[in-house]
Formats: sequence, C-alpha cells, structure tokens
Amino acid sequence: MGNIKFKNNINLLNYTTIKIGGYTEFFAEPSSISEFIDYLKWVKLNNLKYRIIGAGSNLLIKNTFHKGVTICTRKLKKIKINKLSGFVEAECGVMLPVMANLLAQSGCEGGEWLIGIPGTIGGAVLMNAGSGNLWISKYLLSVQVLDIKNLSIYKLDKKHLIFNYRFSSFQTNKFVILKANLMFRPNRNVKQITDKTKQNLRNKTKSQPYHLPSFGSVFKNPTNNYAGKLIEEVGLKGFSIGGAQVSNMHSNFIVNNGDATSEEIYQLITLIQQKVQQKKGIFLHPEVRMIGY
Ligand SMILES: Cc1cc2nc3c(=O)[nH]c(=O)nc-3n(C[C@H](O)[C@H](O)[C@H](O)COP(=O)(O)OP(=O)(O)OC[C@H]3O[C@@H](n4cnc5c(N)ncnc54)[C@H](O)[C@@H]3O)c2cc1C
Repeated sequence: MGNIKFKNNINLLNYTTIKIGGYTEFFAEPSSISEFIDYLKWVKLNNLKYRIIGAGSNLLIKNTFHKGVTICTRKLKKIKINKLSGFVEAECGVMLPVMANLLAQSGCEGGEWLIGIPGTIGGAVLMNAGSGNLWISKYLLSVQVLDIKNLSIYKLDKKHLIFNYRFSSFQTNKFVILKANLMFRPNRNVKQITDKTKQNLRNKTKSQPYHLPSFGSVFKNPTNNYAGKLIEEVGLKGFSIGGAQVSNMHSNFIVNNGDATSEEIYQLITLIQQKVQQKKGIFLHPEVRMIGY
C-alpha cells in the first residue's frame, strides 16, 4: 500500500454532470485497479466512511462537508475488446460512449445505445443503466468485485446477481465493482453499427437537454407510465426553483441553469413528487442517487 496519497478538501462540483457538489474530506483518483484496491483497503483498515463516484452523472451531492473518503474511478479506463468473439473486459471507469465507439469500430453489435449515457461501466452496472428495453445487464457476463466487508476479491457471474429496471444487487450490497465482462455480437458490419451509434446520439441530443448540466432522468418511470409525461401533466414543465429548472425539452430532466444549489434541486425533486402524488396518485421514485441526504 505504497501509493496512498489523498488530496484534502476537494470540491466535488467538477466530478458531477449537474455541476453541484460539496467538499470531501479526503479524495483519491487511482490510476490502476491495484491502486484502487489499496485505497479501499486503507479506508477499511482505518474504519473511514467512503463513497465511490464514477462519472458523477447520476448523483446529487449535498453542498456540505462530507467526512471520509471519496474515490473517483474515472482514470480506470482500460478496455479489451475481442473482435472475433465479442468478449469485452472493461475496468470500472470506462466511459460508456467510449465503449460504444470502440464496439462500433470493432464490428461488435449491441452497444449502439451506450453512446448517449455519459457514465462509467461501474456506475452503469450498479444502476443497470439502459435505454428503452435495453439494459446493460443484458450484455453482462460477470463482474469482478472487492467485498469491502472482508477485502476479498470475487468474480460474480450474472446468474448470482439481481437486475431489474434501474436496479442491481450492487445497490444493496457492500461490493465495489472493479471490472465488468460483457458480450456483444461480433463480426457485424462496421458502417451500419457506426451509423446507428451516431443516429442514437443525434436522437438523444434532439430530445434531451445535453447542452445543460443535468443528471439525466431524475425519476424512474412508473409501471405503464412515463415520469416526464406525468410531470408535464401536473404543469411543472419549465418550472424553476432558483437555478434548478424542470427542463423545457424533457420534463424528467432537471437542469442547472448555472447557479443552482443542491438544496434547490432537492426542493424541486420533492415538489415534483408532492404534485404528482396529489394530482395523479403516483409516487415517483428517484433514479438519481443522493449523497448527504
Ligand atoms: C445527459 C444524461 C443522459 C443520461 N441518460 C441515461 C440513459 O439514457 N439511461 C440511463 O440508464 N441513465 C442515463 N443517465 C444517468 C447516468 O449516466 C447513468 O445512471 C450512469 O450509469 C451512471 O454512471 P456514473 O459512472 O456516472 O455513476 P455515478 O453517478 O458516479 O454513480 C452512480 C452510483 O454508482 C455507484 N458507483 C459508481 N461506480 C461504482 C463502482 N465502481 N463500484 C461501486 N459503485 C459504483 C456510485 O456510488 C453511485 O451510487 C444520463 C445522465 C445524463 C447526465
């Protein structure tokens, strides 16, 4: 454990896509999986509170002081794609759009939708990120994890994990995701996959506010319904609290118009939940993960 060097009092604002974040007591950005494991062991042995962030694209971090350690995985970005078999091994910090482009260049089909999700594979597995009826779990074979309880490393096959709509076992266990193994369809037409990937990105940027800081869809869609539609129907499209606004482009997005605080975002989330509950009798469950709440 020679490389343990934490930074102190780092503002997490630049580690989230909504551009809001409090200060973390200690911060680390390991550049290899073995360094990542060393940090996690250190945290455990010193009994420190810790949190993992990937690309911070699904996070509301309270604008306050967070005791303990924040470890960001975004430098853990090694990926191997076997063109012939479609087998992929990705470190947890690999960005999904990078993976989408590499898959397309390798003639591997199935990951064209990943282009529109600005998160890491670690965050995507934990969230079971998806687009329409395609979820990352569909392509997953196994996950290498560190069990923070006993500091053991395991390879977990998908059959031992639970995945549902925006849910995985990793939301309730103490495992840190180190690497993921996935399988895509090999030997396909590179041009067709590349075109589809580009088209998917165009579709996303046309219908969602990619030009503004956000954390993607705020709420999970209720069964047989759409959170965005419900929010629009209760009259909250475009509604603001301070710098936090329900997007005019997509009502299930909250955007930061430049100077939003975490409290304004939180108040807007709560107000949306209250209005939709009152007027529609439906409780909207946040998809966004919250730190400090
Ligand atoms: C413009 C925009 C569009 C989006 N579109 C979509 C979409 O179409 N579909 C969709 O599903 N999501 C979408 N999202 C949300 C988000 O990108 C996904 O949920 C993504 O998978 C989160 O990955 P992340 O690396 O940013 O995770 P983070 O936000 O950094 O973290 C999310 C959770 O994962 C945990 N975590 C991260 N890495 C690890 C790890 N290695 N081990 C253990 N826990 C870990 C964190 O502790 C946290 O609880 C969108 C977001 C934005 C900003």
